[in-house]
Amino acid sequence: MSACATTYLDHAATTPLRSEVADAMAEARSIPLGNPTGSHRPAQRARRLLEESRDEVAAALGRAPGDIIFTSGGTESANLAVLGTLGAAVAGGAAAVSVVSSSVEHPAVRESCRAAVQLHGVNWCELAVDHDGVVDLDALADLIDDSTTLIAVMLANNETGVVQPLEAVIETVRARSATARIFTDAVQAATFMDLASWTAEADLVALSAHKVGGPVGMGVLAVGPTTPLAPQHHGGGQERERRSGTQDVAGAVGLAAALRLSVSERRQAARRVAALRDRLAAGLLASVAGTHRTVAAGVAILPGHLHVCFEGIEREELLLALSERGICASGGSSCASGALEPSYVLAAMGVPDALVRGAIRFTLGHDTTEADVERALATIPGVIAALRHAH
Ligand code: PLP
Repeated sequence: MSACATTYLDHAATTPLRSEVADAMAEARSIPLGNPTGSHRPAQRARRLLEESRDEVAAALGRAPGDIIFTSGGTESANLAVLGTLGAAVAGGAAAVSVVSSSVEHPAVRESCRAAVQLHGVNWCELAVDHDGVVDLDALADLIDDSTTLIAVMLANNETGVVQPLEAVIETVRARSATARIFTDAVQAATFMDLASWTAEADLVALSAHKVGGPVGMGVLAVGPTTPLAPQHHGGGQERERRSGTQDVAGAVGLAAALRLSVSERRQAARRVAALRDRLAAGLLASVAGTHRTVAAGVAILPGHLHVCFEGIEREELLLALSERGICASGGSSCASGALEPSYVLAAMGVPDALVRGAIRFTLGHDTTEADVERALATIPGVIAALRHAH
């Protein structure tokens, strides 16, 4: 992305809307869209577009269309998965209700677990990860028993890009409990991973459109018919009584278009983006002394993620200085105010505080070019040298 001399390396925060997606959404809106619950022609057309989009999303996830619940994004999907599953267990009179979540889950999951403790009195414990942020399967085995209602392990982490061994997680859980449900937050993974195979055995899967080149404000929770789910929105009973509220039809069309592109381009895009990421990593390691890759070589990470820690650097200062030069990166753990918070993900991985201070996430995506990487490499070493010199 070179417009306005901006090098956008923050795709994990949000990906630019793809032009094909914008076109599909504009076409959907080119004739007035009715409310899909109505009976006149615009309503029928809206219903048809919604259901066609549902079919496409379902196919990308390897699920039945009836499993797909359209939501307002990844955060709502995670809330519905966690609070919906635990709420249903409580309402069903289960003797004990508990949730286990990995200690590196996105706040959408973590805070939903915390809310479940407060609202429903459920037990919550966090599953440890190793130095690379990969969940500890032995610890998981020790945490599961007959009272375990839900296990939440994300497919890939938003800060580090680390891919969790989801298949092994599911095997471990199934070996110990016939009733525990497994929720995976696949929000970051959706662009580059084959969700139909990776999440096939999970009971609940969350997606967000704006992480795959689709529109902001659109998401999905996929949940099979045998997983009890208490709705968190009450009203008109849309989405098979699981999520009330008039659906965003153009948003669903956009999400389906974005997933269609991701699925068709995935292999090639993953190779291309990983090569650019590797070039950026190698260039930074070679030209900036005191650069550490946070995740060890050989650990599975998403193709677009590069998480590094620069010694002797305060990340806020570096991000600001880079932004002034048109390089957009991220600290990986900002809150709604935009302030950078200490990363609980890096803390869970045991990254020393001195390195956490200089932790930066670069995330590349579908529109990242070689020129972007070369520009980043031409800029970052000088900026870091100047910041170190100033201290
Ligand atoms: N889960 C993960 C792993 C994410 O990275 C994000 C967004 O950063 C979310 C959930 C929340 O998604 P949304 O922004 O669509 O609410």
